[in-house]
Amino acid sequence: MNTEDFKDPDNIDEIVNEIKEMKELKDVYNLCWKTYPKWIHSILEGYSEDYPHFTENWKIISKNIKNKNEVKMQRLIIVNYLPLSGVIGYKLISIFCEIFVSSGFMVRDINQIFPCSVCNKGLPTEHVYKLMKDEGMSDIIPENWSNQCMKYSNV
Ligand SMILES: [Zn+2]
Repeated sequence: MNTEDFKDPDNIDEIVNEIKEMKELKDVYNLCWKTYPKWIHSILEGYSEDYPHFTENWKIISKNIKNKNEVKMQRLIIVNYLPLSGVIGYKLISIFCEIFVSSGFMVRDINQIFPCSVCNKGLPTEHVYKLMKDEGMSDIIPENWSNQCMKYSNV
């Protein structure tokens, strides 16, 4: 994945102004697609039930969105690139993220969360799974990493 594809365009000010004028989320979404056609990898219904703490964290975020009453949880947007906070040159991508998150969506990097091969819900990559194990989360995550939910693993 070439991260250059996701850098701020020269006309960023123009685009930011365009966003400010928009009243409908779908218009922002369409503009996002137009500006970064390679950015969104997939849109999932939510996280796998195997990792309930992911959904819990999302719920907490949705409850704490500034200037809004509790926002309804929407969908899980998987993107091909998420800039780390503080990285310069990816302001517009960050603005799109903020808008989606403040509307109840969750935005995750494909290198962290990917779709289950059976039901298409979000599962952690093996790398993220290992980090969670190292952090002492063994009690709340499945015993082994898999590319599909536990309920489908023994079929
Ligand atoms: Zn699944």
